[in-house]
Amino acid sequence: MLRTHTCGELRLDHLNEKVTLSGWVQTVRDKGKIIWIDLRDRYGITQLVMEEGKTPTTLIDLARTLGREFVIQAVGTVNERAAKNDKIPTGNIEVSVTNLQVLNKAALPPFKIEDETDGGDDLRMKFRYLDLRRNLIRQNLILRHRLAKATRDYLDQLAFIEVETPVLIKSTPEGARDFLVPSRMNLGQFYALPQSPQTFKQLLMVAGFDRYYQIVKCFRDEDLRADRQPEFTQIDCEMSFVEQEDVLQTFEGLVKYLFKEIKGIEVADFPRMHYAEAMKYYGSDKPDTRFDMKFVELKNTERDLTSAKGFKVLDEAELVVGICAKGAASYSRKQLDTLTDFVKRPQIGAKGLIYVKYNTDSTFKSSVDKFYAPEDLKQWADAMDAQPGDLLLILSGKTQQVRKQLNELRLEVGSQLGLRDKQQFSCLWVVDFPLLEFDEETQRWHAMHHPFTSPKPEDIGLLASEPAKVKANAYDMVINGVEIGGGSIRIADETLQARLFELLGFSQEEAEAQFGFLMNAFKYGAPPHGGIAFGFDRLCAVLSGVDSIRDFIAFPKNNSGRDVMIESPATIDPSQIQELGIKLLPNKE
Ligand code: ASP
Repeated sequence: MLRTHTCGELRLDHLNEKVTLSGWVQTVRDKGKIIWIDLRDRYGITQLVMEEGKTPTTLIDLARTLGREFVIQAVGTVNERAAKNDKIPTGNIEVSVTNLQVLNKAALPPFKIEDETDGGDDLRMKFRYLDLRRNLIRQNLILRHRLAKATRDYLDQLAFIEVETPVLIKSTPEGARDFLVPSRMNLGQFYALPQSPQTFKQLLMVAGFDRYYQIVKCFRDEDLRADRQPEFTQIDCEMSFVEQEDVLQTFEGLVKYLFKEIKGIEVADFPRMHYAEAMKYYGSDKPDTRFDMKFVELKNTERDLTSAKGFKVLDEAELVVGICAKGAASYSRKQLDTLTDFVKRPQIGAKGLIYVKYNTDSTFKSSVDKFYAPEDLKQWADAMDAQPGDLLLILSGKTQQVRKQLNELRLEVGSQLGLRDKQQFSCLWVVDFPLLEFDEETQRWHAMHHPFTSPKPEDIGLLASEPAKVKANAYDMVINGVEIGGGSIRIADETLQARLFELLGFSQEEAEAQFGFLMNAFKYGAPPHGGIAFGFDRLCAVLSGVDSIRDFIAFPKNNSGRDVMIESPATIDPSQIQELGIKLLPNKE
């Protein structure tokens, strides 16, 4: 080994030991008679010292030629430091150098490899291998490793077996676009990269594996956001002879175990929320339950506290719904204008925002004073459980849209009021999802989870008459408003599966061509089974209180799906294209 110790290892216990360290030069401080070098590796930083009169001149001369990020090996003796540094674990000692060797020179790095770097996002992505030398990113990847390890430990203990499934497969219907790979040996035919190993894990259940998991790459060709990457990692799991409750218990157990192992936090049992409840009270199927601020409906099909006062907007609205921001009656005109602008942004699309200040002196000031008397506003305030000092924020319109808009507003106000502490964790299960949703555009039913999800047995009768009302044996795990995982109990019956495909608009031939292998397998004795998959990158980010999953991926892609370091995707050689039997259309530009 080119070292006896790492750069994070030496303490006062090692005084007077002769050691060899290797690493990267973080800084050289040359004070004339004395030179200090901070030597860095994955484990930490150790200070090396060289002194005129004590250290051979040749070594001092060599030290003066060192640049940032040079790779060196130093031999020396561990001494106690005169001026200690309590910010780093090795801060009590330094190594007095007796020999020094340059293992490799380094070009001047394009940005500072320190916690506070001067490199912008693009530059750091281009030189990701240098960015990865920084503490922050390294810590993130170490956390990722520990999470993966703990996941494997937990599942192994419960007799889950990790099985690898293929990457070159056929389309799996998870609702996204597939990445396709042309086949040279089968000209004109394409593999699809898995959006998830869904069908394979079900086949493993038919094969009697009983409990399967895999920490696995999945690929979805979707537009990117902060929490999306074209390739991402799932903790993918499946179990046989289980009901929904068994799956929830098993994987709530996993997440509790991870919190305990990784964060030292005991999380309480996860509450369960019906999908319908989540939509009604939070306008989202992944509610952030770190804070309350539930929706209150002032006008719905059952009651109406807003109509017949001459305000057309609310008179005509299908739903009038608001939130009560505790203690926010003191919001300024400007703050309220900003919130109004926020909901009017095209991404949110509200026409306007109604506010009602319930002042501390119990008077009211609202944006609809022209139409509503203080008694009317008091009625609203009571319905919303508001106290003097609170602010009511109200939106109106079509039910689904308003709920979505108010969800965004609730999250924004929650952030503004400091209610979304990233180091506080609120976990829950959302259950009883609808099995199907109707897509107006294509005029077709779509599976809300995926087509292998089973309907609740008691709802099977409704499949033909009222498909919208059929609930699924499907569940999502949500932490701090982020969907961390989702799964379902599957259809294990060939006939029911065929009925579902039919409802989803697949002809018998199409279903046969795409999923014949699965339906065939079900003919040979399929156990009742179900499972779940977790977004592993997201889990890492949420546990760390970070929004972007990119910080937890060693080599991520940017917002345009590019790896700017290796410059991929890239054009390929015409001979390769020919070999694949593909014809490229001329570029549109
Ligand atoms: N395959 C599903 C997904 O990727 C998860 C599951 O149903 O187990 O969301």
